[in-house]
Amino acid sequence: MGTKGSAGAQGSKPARGIGRRAVLIGGAVTAVGTAALARDELKRVWWRVPGVRKPRKAGELDFAGAQWVAASEANWRMADRPDDYGIDRVIIHVTQGSFRSAVRVFQDPGHGAAAHYVVGQDGRVAQMIRELDVAFHAGNRSYNERSIGIEHEGFVDRPRDLTPQMYASSARLTAEICERYTIPVDREHIIGHVEVPGTDHTDPGPHWDWDRYLKLVRTVRASPSPGKGTAS
Ligand SMILES: [Zn+2]
Repeated sequence: MGTKGSAGAQGSKPARGIGRRAVLIGGAVTAVGTAALARDELKRVWWRVPGVRKPRKAGELDFAGAQWVAASEANWRMADRPDDYGIDRVIIHVTQGSFRSAVRVFQDPGHGAAAHYVVGQDGRVAQMIRELDVAFHAGNRSYNERSIGIEHEGFVDRPRDLTPQMYASSARLTAEICERYTIPVDREHIIGHVEVPGTDHTDPGPHWDWDRYLKLVRTVRASPSPGKGTAS
């Protein structure tokens, strides 16, 4: 889980440029007028302009196996990843609580932290923040900007909390993320919260089985199953 204090501080920069956006929109429009870009080229240029919001539809998912439960807008920052920030890390967390309590605190604007996904011990997945947006989960701004955060229901000192269903479901999710952003499946790119520079968090803890997890992720990536496709 994210640290309330430090993650909250990171959250206090909501407008990486409303002013900048207006300027860039102006620039794009001017470019159209002068360069007479074809319609489809304009579309492409438009989406590549950092700071221009991509449309967000309520309930839209990046992972087809998830259920959408929106996190409080105070716990994440709008972005246009991977265009404005590249995504090259998946960060694994353990919640130190139940699935329900994790979902509840991520919906709480006072919490100041939330992850993109919460995976339950029964294998269910809630998506709470879109992957294109920056979730405050790592307690480190640059790691938040470059990563997808996945919470897992349970306690770090209870190995029985890390169920086979949870590993399998999380591995499917991570395999899709790695495929989507061309992230290598290794321990340099799939890391624990404990490995984020400057963190005082210990999750996912000593019982998280990295060998097993990476093997599962690789198996999903190697399989031609239809569930491997992207949802958006
Ligand atoms: Zn954590």
